[in-house]
Amino acid sequence: MNDSEPRDFIRKIIDEDLESGKHAEIVTRFPPEPNGYLHIGHVMSICLNFGVAAETGGRTYLRFDDTNPGKESPEYVEAIEKDVHWLGFDWGDRLTHASDYFDRLYQSAIELIEKGVAYVDSLSAEEIREYRGTLTEPGKDSPYRDRSIDENLDLFARMYAGEFADGEHLLRAKIDMASPNMNLRDPAIYRIRHIPHQNAGDKWCIYPMYDFAHGLSDAYEGITHSLCTLEFEDHRPLYDWFLDQLQPEHRPRQIEFSRLNIAYAITSKRKLNALVEEGVVSGWDDPRMPTIAGMRRRGYPPEALREFVVRAGVTKKDKLIEMGALENCVRETLGDSAPRRMAVLRPLKVVLTNYPEDQVEVMEAKNHPGNPDFGTREMPFSRELWIEQDDFMEDAPRKFFRLKPGGEVRLRFGYIIRCDEVIKNDDGDVVELRCSYDPDTRSGTGTSDRKVKGTIHWVSCKHAVDASVRLYDRLFTEANPNAVEDFHSVLNPDSLETVSARLEPSLGELAAGETVQFERLGYFCKDAVDDGAIFNRVVTLRDSWAKLEKQALQQA
Ligand code: ATP
Ligand code: MG
Repeated sequence: MNDSEPRDFIRKIIDEDLESGKHAEIVTRFPPEPNGYLHIGHVMSICLNFGVAAETGGRTYLRFDDTNPGKESPEYVEAIEKDVHWLGFDWGDRLTHASDYFDRLYQSAIELIEKGVAYVDSLSAEEIREYRGTLTEPGKDSPYRDRSIDENLDLFARMYAGEFADGEHLLRAKIDMASPNMNLRDPAIYRIRHIPHQNAGDKWCIYPMYDFAHGLSDAYEGITHSLCTLEFEDHRPLYDWFLDQLQPEHRPRQIEFSRLNIAYAITSKRKLNALVEEGVVSGWDDPRMPTIAGMRRRGYPPEALREFVVRAGVTKKDKLIEMGALENCVRETLGDSAPRRMAVLRPLKVVLTNYPEDQVEVMEAKNHPGNPDFGTREMPFSRELWIEQDDFMEDAPRKFFRLKPGGEVRLRFGYIIRCDEVIKNDDGDVVELRCSYDPDTRSGTGTSDRKVKGTIHWVSCKHAVDASVRLYDRLFTEANPNAVEDFHSVLNPDSLETVSARLEPSLGELAAGETVQFERLGYFCKDAVDDGAIFNRVVTLRDSWAKLEKQALQQA
């Protein structure tokens, strides 16, 4: 175990259970329902479940909690497996499904009936709701609650055999219709659904409820610590009730922790699904989505996501974490790992009037300012260059150290140039700058020790690679879109801007999915889905949102 790991309350419990000898080995599970893609909240759960087991030499299952056929699909199953692997975790041969246990669960349900603690109810869904009572009023017993064990066994067998329509009967636990905990008011155990299952095929027309299937699946797998989010706290008495009644060989313990939510993002699969279905985004892997697939495509490294959840910590308090905190982890990781390159996003042409027409020089450019191991590359330099429109200002304030009429600037890894003339079109827009270069100032080899205050990046026009660059911003304008009744009202209309950029030639060979830093602009990932030279902005170099976001979060 690593002593420098932060010790959260769950890791403390686990340490105690190992020390006291309660468990010789820690066994956990990550139990996604395959009804959507995984998101940043799930990253927390994955890192926690796989993390605590790995740190103690234990094991973790990846278990698909597939008790809701109809909403679930093999597409989601596949995506979830890919995402968990990509994050850096391995379940070995421990890939399971709640549906693998349908036979055992069915037998356990019969056992409950035989013990007299489960019954078949025949009220309609609406009546069941009425009988259930409210938070302030106790519920009423169903008239079917006292059916004999034999009658219950017979009806349940016929439910299984497909004799009844959906909703005609329901198997319920016989607990307490007056319990202050609504989850204990005779909760459902099995319902009839004439619908095939993504894993079990068409064998079943009755399906177990989550609360029943989950705890028992934990027990079957020998899970020691069943870690879940706080909304299941009120379900824990039911989780324990099933274990008390059935006394399986292994007894798991449920422990709840708070959900991780991040500002300006939605973390509900249902709402994320709506964004996809309505075409608000291009798919589950749209780089603006807080899904693992979206963040991967955007260019977030898995290390950064893992570091983010370590910093967020495991607690019992609900939290809404700044998007900036996640972006900082991404920046820190990429700062070390991403090679530097030059690209111009909003090109403005510079013509060096005193540079020979057909001459091309090859400049040597460092691939990483802080790490010589990255080596160098060659950048062609010629008479016509692209620079960033922002790096020129006609009526510049005194402190503007980039290019201005009559002003001088250094071209990175190149020469010092001076702006002699500004060319405009009929609308008065600046379309070209006529400049002269000082041949004695070539970077590294120049004879002049002349210094200028500003250095800007550039790309040679005739060598440039054209690319489409996608600049992403927050998908929502509200810090907590989860809490807004209709999230459509807080969608950011400017969450995607596409620009035509000019890149240095070496970027033409970059492999899909690779990330580089465009110097002075940010980190950019070559899109791995769409064909062509398309780059996604991973993150800017500095956190321009920090202040705004803090204010918004204080108000949220
Ligand atoms: P959603 O509401 O998005 O559908 P869910 O909880 O229904 O999420 P599951 O597939 O059931 O999604 O989740 C698998 C596991 O991930 C569960 O143990 C759940 O508690 C955990 N989890 C889900 N969302 C978060 C979150 N925001 N933070 C931490 N853990 C989460
Ligand atoms: Mg769930």
